[in-house]
Amino acid sequence: MARIGILTCSNATQDLGCSSVSCLADFRKRKGTFAEYPESERLTLVGIISCPGCPTLTGPDKLLQRIRALTEFKVDTIHFSYCMKALCPFKDKYRQALEEAFPDVKIVIGTHQEHVTPEEYRARVKKLFRQPRKTMVDLILDKD
Ligand code: SF4
Repeated sequence: MARIGILTCSNATQDLGCSSVSCLADFRKRKGTFAEYPESERLTLVGIISCPGCPTLTGPDKLLQRIRALTEFKVDTIHFSYCMKALCPFKDKYRQALEEAFPDVKIVIGTHQEHVTPEEYRARVKKLFRQPRKTMVDLILDKD
């Protein structure tokens, strides 16, 4: 049995409202990177947690704290979500820090199947962030 945790990008989950639905669908269907496990192996999803946000000067320290939400529960493997793979400029540093801190935990980059190229995905995400959005500022300034 493989005990799996998923780490997602909070730009996708917190800012853009992704519920990890594609990661979970392909986990159930054993597609994407979940197809790499032997068919006979049972997969258990232990938990999902989003990255604590871009690291500023603290480097991976924030993530090392947060990832305990998975590592304290005997995960064998942590998958970095597809959004992390495509969007995160820190993923290689994060991978290295996690591998050093948790040598028994395997890190896999990616989750669900890739339906568009990472370049196309980044362009689409950029478009989402650039669209005009009402915020509390508009309410305070009475422009809502
Ligand atoms: S550090 Fe990476 S995974 Fe975390 S919010 Fe920033 S881009 Fe996303």
